[in-house]
Amino acid sequence: MDIAVNLKFVKEKIIKAALKTKRDPDKITLVAVSKGVGLLEVKEAYALGIRDFGENRVQDAEEKINCSSINVNWHFIGHLQTNKVKNVLPKFSLIHSLDRLRLAKKINQLAQGEGKRIKALVQVNIAEEETKHGLPPLEVKDFLEEVAQFPNLDIIGLMAMAPYVSNPEEVRPYFRRMYSIFRTLDVPGVDMRYLSMGMSNDFTVAVEEGANVLRIGSQLFQGDE
Ligand SMILES: *Cc1c(COP(=O)(O)O)cnc(C)c1O
Repeated sequence: MDIAVNLKFVKEKIIKAALKTKRDPDKITLVAVSKGVGLLEVKEAYALGIRDFGENRVQDAEEKINCSSINVNWHFIGHLQTNKVKNVLPKFSLIHSLDRLRLAKKINQLAQGEGKRIKALVQVNIAEEETKHGLPPLEVKDFLEEVAQFPNLDIIGLMAMAPYVSNPEEVRPYFRRMYSIFRTLDVPGVDMRYLSMGMSNDFTVAVEEGANVLRIGSQLFQGDE
């Protein structure tokens, strides 16, 4: 495992996919998903210039987040239980997985108590899979209209996970539909800035279809796809 080699490879693929579709590769944020790897790997990625890391469990992330020698943005990408919100708010700069009203209310309420504003992306279950969290595409607009009213919660985009397939071309239509939702929904108070989609096995397709935040774990830290 050599993170430097993996990162170089991933970056080259991002640049190639961006240029192919006439997009600016510098406007694409790579979130290194460090769930399952330790502080050592995180420090190594940090030394290579990575400043955004993703975790899906607060507990597993704690040691890494509390390390004072790295100053980065932590992204919460996992399913968020309402009773864990109080642990997530002080540590993470963006929540990718807002998927229900009760959670939005809880985040807003706790943020209000601390006099903070919390940034989140709304998770969409783009392929309407039973095994995945997220709102069905047709419910996204109503949900955004409702949560846009919450003063301490700022919605700044959408997140989705495509079905796992061996040939990433198969998920292109899902990414394309996500981009269309992202571009066409116009809800006052919602700033559609980020579209978080694309993981190790499908990120080049996601870039070609308009993603500007990629969440990549295994290809960076294990080197496989
Ligand atoms: C684990 C995870 C990723 C990264 O997946 P890889 O296939 O390892 O790149 C991205 N997004 C979410 C929500 C994850 O849980």
